[in-house]
Amino acid sequence: MVNQEDKFKKVISHAKEYGYVFQSSEIYDGLSAVYDYAQNGAELKKNIRDYWWKAMVQMHDNIVGIDAAIFMHPTTWKASGHVDAFNDPLIDNKDSKKRYRADVLIEEHCAKIEAKIDKEVEKAEKRFGDAFDKTQFLATNQRVVEYQEKINATLSRMAKSLENEDLADVKALIEELEIADPLTGSRNWTEVKQFNLMFGTKIGASAENSMDLYLRPETAQGIFVNFLNVQKSGRLKIPFGIAQTGKAFRNEIVARQFIFRMREFEQMEMQFFIKPGTQVEWYNHWKETRLKWHLSLGMGGENYRFHDHEKLAHYADAACDIEFKFPFGFKELEGIHSRTDFDLSQHEKFSGKKLQYFDPEENKSYVPYVLETSIGLDRMFLAVFSNSLVEEELENGTTRTVLKLPSVLAPVKAAILPLVKKDGLPEIAKQIADDLKWDFNVDYDEKDAVGRRYRRQDANGTPFCITVDHDTLNDNTVTIRHRDSMEQQRVKIEDLRNIIKLEVDVRSWLMKM
Ligand code: ATP
Repeated sequence: MVNQEDKFKKVISHAKEYGYVFQSSEIYDGLSAVYDYAQNGAELKKNIRDYWWKAMVQMHDNIVGIDAAIFMHPTTWKASGHVDAFNDPLIDNKDSKKRYRADVLIEEHCAKIEAKIDKEVEKAEKRFGDAFDKTQFLATNQRVVEYQEKINATLSRMAKSLENEDLADVKALIEELEIADPLTGSRNWTEVKQFNLMFGTKIGASAENSMDLYLRPETAQGIFVNFLNVQKSGRLKIPFGIAQTGKAFRNEIVARQFIFRMREFEQMEMQFFIKPGTQVEWYNHWKETRLKWHLSLGMGGENYRFHDHEKLAHYADAACDIEFKFPFGFKELEGIHSRTDFDLSQHEKFSGKKLQYFDPEENKSYVPYVLETSIGLDRMFLAVFSNSLVEEELENGTTRTVLKLPSVLAPVKAAILPLVKKDGLPEIAKQIADDLKWDFNVDYDEKDAVGRRYRRQDANGTPFCITVDHDTLNDNTVTIRHRDSMEQQRVKIEDLRNIIKLEVDVRSWLMKM
């Protein structure tokens, strides 16, 4: 059994070895929490983005997609609340000089108590066997109930203190819980301070004319400020959505989890504009729809869970996360937020322009309410990549490393391999590759023995290997090998396109939603 830390290290090194993710500016020793996507990573990332775009934009008659600029007028961030409130509480350890997010230290403390609950459940499950009733056990077992109460009390006190800006109480909580620096064990903490996460920059050539700007910390505001332009030019009727994908920037305090928390990352967001009063219904609708999207990729229902927010952001009246089981435990992958009319009303106030929708059915104008779904593309990449990487024991006692990417997302759909580098086989293989290129991203590989080439493609996540051999010369058939089952079939060259399409086509995957 590999432990979680080893598994995570394996994920990072595999991502590098197979051309998925590199550290940014590696030759200069890298830049903290900034990463580059390499030749395969760029394809995987694009495929995830396309899969989201297809499901969210193109398959919905009432959702359109835009591409707003990263730079926005600085008043945007005053209006949205980011200048005043987009802060994280930070705390330094005086001995180790390490910096932490105070809320994360407390949450991790609670996660440890939760792990104790899980252990109790596991023990009881073994003891009671089939008769075990988990819900009843969680509600009645004295020890478990106490653990849970402790978690609830801690998290709600933290939420209240953060809400009231009572940072001294956050520090007091850390001391009462006897939380120590995870790296050194020291409990010698500074006060808790607020730290704004936005990156500032300047626009304009001369010092007198330059203007202070921010790099956007979320893509959502580009949608809000364009709300009326899109609604009018698209003649859209409520309910409707505006979606976009793009870069966002946050000067994260602690960023040590590979592409999970980056300082430059990409979001895929959709703002759904609705009639005030219908937000509960739409909140539930989008929770369910987004979970179905995740499940359609077949990465195991047990790896997802909802987590309701204790502390609501300044704009929300309800919010939850879809959490995914990453190699370091369950963590936020996507947020679903009921944002009320907060953003549009704020932009009305700060811009002096009306941002209202005239509802022909009600014969009146109003500021719509908004339901947001917001997922990090890089986090989704990490979810897919880490979940897919497996070491498989084979019947002959050997192991193979396979990247079992959902085939719709795999960077390379098929590798075409001539069995040997002579007798005209490479020419036929290249011809097949040239033909399949029109429909799929394919690879041609003639180096090494065919078994080694299969292993390389398995580790790269390629769903199909197509081998051209001497029989091909006589009957125009090839062997097609499936990555996951390793099964091989003899098929006609002319059938390849359909066989691959059936397996990798977005339609067949999204149909599962
Ligand atoms: P966290 O609590 O992990 O800091 P958040 O609640 O601030 O995240 P949101 O503002 O809701 O995140 O952003 C929506 C999504 O954007 C998140 O669910 C996550 O997938 C992604 N995201 C946010 N911050 C980062 C980051 N620093 N690096 C990568 N992805 C991020």
